Amino acid sequence: MAWEFSTDPQFQEQLDWMDSFVREEIWPLETLELEHRDLLRAVAPLRERVKERGLWAAHLDPELGGQGFGQLKLGLMHEIAGTSVLAPFAFGNQPPDSGNSEILALAGTPEQKERYLHPLLAGKLFSAFSMTELDTPGADPTQLRTSARLEGDEWVIDGRKWFSSNGSIADFLIVMAVSDPDEAPHRRASMFVVPADTPGVTVVRDVPTLDHMDQSFGKYGGHAEIEYENVRVPADALLGERGAGFKIAQQRLGPGRIHHCMRWIGQANRAFDMLCERATYRAVQGGVLADKQTVQNWIADSAAEIKAARLMTLQTAWRIDNEGVRAARQDIALIKFFGAKMLNNVVDRALQAHGSLGYSTDLPLEAMFRAARGARIYDGPDEVHRVSVARQILKGYAPPPGEIPSEHVPTRRAAAEQRFAWLLDAVTSND
Ligand SMILES: Cc1cc2nc3c(=O)[nH]c(=O)nc-3n(C[C@H](O)[C@H](O)[C@H](O)COP(=O)(O)OP(=O)(O)OC[C@H]3O[C@@H](n4cnc5c(N)ncnc54)[C@H](O)[C@@H]3O)c2cc1C
Repeated sequence: MAWEFSTDPQFQEQLDWMDSFVREEIWPLETLELEHRDLLRAVAPLRERVKERGLWAAHLDPELGGQGFGQLKLGLMHEIAGTSVLAPFAFGNQPPDSGNSEILALAGTPEQKERYLHPLLAGKLFSAFSMTELDTPGADPTQLRTSARLEGDEWVIDGRKWFSSNGSIADFLIVMAVSDPDEAPHRRASMFVVPADTPGVTVVRDVPTLDHMDQSFGKYGGHAEIEYENVRVPADALLGERGAGFKIAQQRLGPGRIHHCMRWIGQANRAFDMLCERATYRAVQGGVLADKQTVQNWIADSAAEIKAARLMTLQTAWRIDNEGVRAARQDIALIKFFGAKMLNNVVDRALQAHGSLGYSTDLPLEAMFRAARGARIYDGPDEVHRVSVARQILKGYAPPPGEIPSEHVPTRRAAAEQRFAWLLDAVTSND
């Protein structure tokens, strides 16, 4: 009977080290609002310590320069790293580079791995994933318009993308474009590796967002709008098979989505600690917030939601490790929307408990609140995951005979009376 919830003591030691390291070395950096270049300088020595500790790029297999921990251990690590947006950066598995490295590991040729994957894992390059377009629904990428046509031994890419996260600091872009417009919807698109300095690639801007309201450029975490105009790349820029863009995207987005969920647990725990701390001292109308039933409900609900999301996330991670991404599709979709909702709920309650202080930039809660809102949209909006989960679940159901609900009591009673007639007869005759 294997049903195990404990962490092995040796790995727990690593997690304990990580916890102190993230709190003591990385949380302070958050307050400095460093430019990308300075951030790199600040993080460089921290990365060395992570490497010495054997925790660098834990998401990939050893032959690719990672630790090969698998998703479950990564989940436990991400809970800690997720407390700060800067921490995954020190551990070599920041989005979107971690997901992009998985694409390259999965679909890249030996040359592509040599040129892009190994330097990416070594932290020497940055990447972006460029799929979403302003004019077509990201929730239905079969409608993509960016095109890629083969001319001689070159692919020529034309189109406009936006929300390519880290696009303005990326050294290369993984671009999804329609290479085979006459094929079936899910066979039309391919992926290409495009160096960011290829003529015809123009980063138009970093789109100001709820999370980054000021127009900025070249900042870690920015979401770039990128024009691809007559962009010529060699035929070997194709990633994986021609027309396999969707297949690769699915394989990438599965682990990518659960990595977000793992980090959200860390964010939520941090907000939860702030909520509870506030409750202990803020005195209103004859008692501290901790004495008010509403706040007690917030604390209990938050604890329950975090725990539920954590168990769902770790169980999904376990399934990926043991049965593969495909087998975990439904679990990934479930935790993606459930985890995003949990994060938004917990951060919102913590902010509310701090009143105007929570709303101000004197606490990290307002930034966490703005960032959390995106969780319900990126890597597939909530609604799409709900649709996907419901569809998969409904495959296991069919209309009942005569459209009489299976649990219809009068029908069941009639059947039971027939089946147990001998008993009912005996009861009646004993009366
Ligand atoms: C912070 C952030 C980072 C991002 N990073 C990247 C990135 O690195 N690379 C990249 O390519 N993209 C990125 N995106 C884009 C993201 O993937 C898309 O925003 C997302 O897929 C939704 O596409 P859309 O914005 O075009 O919305 P639409 O597809 O227009 O959908 C709008 C809304 O319609 C509703 N909806 C859609 N489909 C359904 C349905 N089937 N049933 C019911 N309702 C539905 C949902 O409420 C949805 O929010 C990022 C987005 C954000 C917010």
